[in-house]
Amino acid sequence: MAHPQTPHDPQPYPLGLRLAGRRVLVVGGGTVATRRVPALLDAGAAVALVAPEVTPALHGHIAAGRLSWSPRAFRPDDLDDTWLVQVAIDDPAAAAQISAAAEERRIFCVRADDRQAASAWTPAVTRSGPVTVAVLGGGDPRRAMAVRDAVRALLADAGSRRQPAGAPVPAAGEPAEGGSVALVGSGPGDPELITVKGRRLLAEADVVVADRLVPGLLLDELRADVELVDASKIPYGPSRTQEEINRILVERALAGATVVRLKGGDPYVFGRGGEELLACAAAGVPVSVVPGVTSAVSVPAAAGVPVTHRQVAHEFTVVSGHLPPGHPDSLVNWPALAALRGTLVLLMGLKNLPAITAALLAGGRDAGVAVAVVQEGTTGDQRTLRATLGSVADAVAEAGIRPPAIVVIGDVVTALDAA
Ligand code: SAH
Repeated sequence: MAHPQTPHDPQPYPLGLRLAGRRVLVVGGGTVATRRVPALLDAGAAVALVAPEVTPALHGHIAAGRLSWSPRAFRPDDLDDTWLVQVAIDDPAAAAQISAAAEERRIFCVRADDRQAASAWTPAVTRSGPVTVAVLGGGDPRRAMAVRDAVRALLADAGSRRQPAGAPVPAAGEPAEGGSVALVGSGPGDPELITVKGRRLLAEADVVVADRLVPGLLLDELRADVELVDASKIPYGPSRTQEEINRILVERALAGATVVRLKGGDPYVFGRGGEELLACAAAGVPVSVVPGVTSAVSVPAAAGVPVTHRQVAHEFTVVSGHLPPGHPDSLVNWPALAALRGTLVLLMGLKNLPAITAALLAGGRDAGVAVAVVQEGTTGDQRTLRATLGSVADAVAEAGIRPPAIVVIGDVVTALDAA
């Protein structure tokens, strides 16, 4: 029977159910079940699905062996050994029957069709690392979601804030002491293009070692007590500077700090992230990598250029142009690149652009192929120049394009022009 929630009704009692290995019955195979099942699997529940038909996404879980499926209607013995029931069907009469059977056996029952008739509610949830925030809105899911969204925004802004000089709250399974290093990609320039995980780790950091290309607004958000090391201001030449960065990462982590090494774009795309990882590992410092949105793909996109496009390009090649073709240290096979017909994305290619375009033309690439040069992509100062392979080197010099810039060569440059 229904228990309407009025202002005088008792409030629900919040619980965190530890479902690992426990049978949870999901009745229904439509969109509601599709949305509920992943969190149950994430909690380690032994999910048993009962539904004559299921969505392709549920099929995927079944095919991967993540849950068991009985392709039929509900039977009361489906409740055997069950700890929790999720009724995810539209038919109110059938749903009422299932929840009556569950009630009889003292099994909590969540109902998608009628919250007021359910014995349990699923809260609106947001997760931040090991922390889960669950919000119940007094029977109004929209209110719950609005509060959840506000909490999520707070968590994203603040991370798990700690008291200055206070002890960090250790997550379950993590050592209470001992520093670590995370190599985090900041994305190409727009501060909103960092990953959710990257932003959380940044908010949790004691020390941040940042590159020149890292969005300034991300650094602006750091707590006052965070030590910010600007890697671009380390004096010495390039190789000494890298050694010095490695030394700072290792030293701070060994002193117990949570260190974020914030790097432009993705840490491993021409970013020397691998060297930093090896240096930390060699010193016995726990080190992890959080990928970032690389400028190689996102900066062309921001300028309206897709790096692949159906019937236009089936490949894209990302190349560093910091050494000119023919340089003894160059590892790039320029004649091979000239023979490709797909998209070529050049990073750090401005200085050597005349030599690079000459090598591509000499290798047979068409002088008329379209080129876009994008300076400071995804930022408020983004600037795009269009030219052809034959004209781009002069055009860049004339327009005074400066680093950081990306050069995209290929028919994809004009692929979206009709849009
Ligand atoms: N790890 C970075 C690349 C580092 S190499 C990434 O994944 O994006 C630095 C080069 O990246 C610059 O010389 C430039 O070619 C390119 N670049 C980075 N950010 C850029 C931006 N916002 N606009 C244009 N080019 C950018």
